Amino acid sequence: MKEISCKLLVIGAGPGGYVAAIRAGQLGIDTVIVDDQKPGGTCLNVGCIPSKALIHAAEEFDKVVRASRAKSPLGISLSDPALDLAQTIAWKDGIVGRLNSGVSGLLKKAKVKIVEGRARFRDGKTVEVATEIGLQVIRAETVIIATGSAPVELPALPFGGPVISSTEALALTKVPERLVVVGGGYIGLELGMAFARFGSTVTVVEAEQKVLPLYDSELTRPVVKRLSELGVEVLTGATARGLSAKGDALLVETADGAEKKIAADKILVTVGRKPVTEGWGREEIELDMAGRFIRIDEQCRTSMRGIYAIGDVTGEPMLAHRAMAQGEMVAEIVAGHKRSWDKRAIPAICFTDPEILSVGLSPDEAKKAGREVKIGLFPFQANGRAMTKLAEDGFVRVVARADNHLVLGIQAVGEGVSELSAAFGLALEMGARLEDIAGTIHAHPTQGEAFQEAALRALGHALHI
Ligand code: FAD
Ligand code: NAD
Repeated sequence: MKEISCKLLVIGAGPGGYVAAIRAGQLGIDTVIVDDQKPGGTCLNVGCIPSKALIHAAEEFDKVVRASRAKSPLGISLSDPALDLAQTIAWKDGIVGRLNSGVSGLLKKAKVKIVEGRARFRDGKTVEVATEIGLQVIRAETVIIATGSAPVELPALPFGGPVISSTEALALTKVPERLVVVGGGYIGLELGMAFARFGSTVTVVEAEQKVLPLYDSELTRPVVKRLSELGVEVLTGATARGLSAKGDALLVETADGAEKKIAADKILVTVGRKPVTEGWGREEIELDMAGRFIRIDEQCRTSMRGIYAIGDVTGEPMLAHRAMAQGEMVAEIVAGHKRSWDKRAIPAICFTDPEILSVGLSPDEAKKAGREVKIGLFPFQANGRAMTKLAEDGFVRVVARADNHLVLGIQAVGEGVSELSAAFGLALEMGARLEDIAGTIHAHPTQGEAFQEAALRALGHALHI
């Protein structure tokens, strides 16, 4: 096959890679992108989008189930709701398909050449791609590695049979009667709660002393309460030991050292993700590593000249919007623009029931950083819009410097708070002070008013509490 030469080669068409390629194309850079999967990477195909589709379906189903069981305060009643998970999955696949085509279209519009296959470095400037019709050699002046991440497998619980990763969980066509989730982090709780709402009996086995150890207890409390309402059993400080001999149960060592056997139709292992640093010829270019990730500087340059790395392969937080922001930045750097990583905050959202949102520093993190802080917390119980949505569980919390009121962090927990992430992120990036938020007219009635009230409360004069 004829060799291709290009200015920029992007390996991996996930949110990091495809955004880098689109922006490079827009800037007139002759760009090639390689992936053997449909464009969109983990996020679009087996991550963010499919999981949020399933979570939405679970939320809708849960609402009708609740209305069928007890008299709804809204006056809605119905009988016998049913779920056809195969249809739900087909609907989810339809969304993924539309977005796959959308990304392909955007790449073509930006005149990016797409090569389908697995890429492997021969040397720092040459990559070979095993395509369906033979080996394609690509020579590039600059390469961006955006190979993403993959689920971590537990040695005692290898994937296969009833033991599944998030990828298989997002393709189940029957609701498992008994689901055990190993790892109560992002994926475990997002999907575990969704399946509990679909009707599965769910048990969560978490090694740490609390679920979602990334967030403080004040933020996770409404989620823990909801887990209990959903009948989800949570075993903290527990270790998965392996499958039972018959393969129909998980053996667990509980916090007090006892052995427990939990009957299970499916065991979903969600104990983290690992960067994809093997299988593409890293040994040919000898990149410096930072632990298990590729080492990068503030411009996403690796230790090898002309090679950049972005996204999950470069470190935490492994989030799609971080990968996209890096991709956009690197494309501009390749085009000769002066850019470097200067973001003040990366929002993190856990799409549990209710949702958790955090941007910037939590009160504990701010205190650990030696800051004297003012904290304002406004509960949704005092917010009219939340009442009209039966969404009173949760709050917005603002953390600011005590001396000059510069906002250091904003968190929220509650139904639908993910949509507040734009306002929170903007406030941090723009260097807002408490007075800026308090002085901004927030539309009534919205849950966003809790943001303004939290700032007012930190200033000592909240109006509606
Ligand atoms: P990836 O999306 O992993 O893409 C890497 C691509 O590189 C893949 O398409 C792969 O096929 C390709 N590739 C690898 N090796 C090669 C090679 N040798 N040759 C060619 N191609 C190669 N993040 C959020 O921000 N919000 C969420 O709600 C969210 N939900 C998630 C839910 C689940 C279930 C999972 C698993 C993840 C979720 N994430 C979420 C994380 C998010 O998916 C990742 O952070 C994001 O996809 C990282 O983007 P990336 O471009 O670095 O890599
Ligand atoms: P995670 O790091 O969020 O959670 C893993 C959990 O497993 C932790 O609570 C950890 O203590 C626990 N754990 C680790 N080893 C264990 C063991 N042997 N037994 C029991 N528990 C164990 O990882 P994840 O849920 O697999 O998600 C991976 C990454 O994907 C996340 O870190 C995040 O970056 C990304 N993600 C993001 C979103 C989102 O933004 N909404 C959603 C899903 C995934």
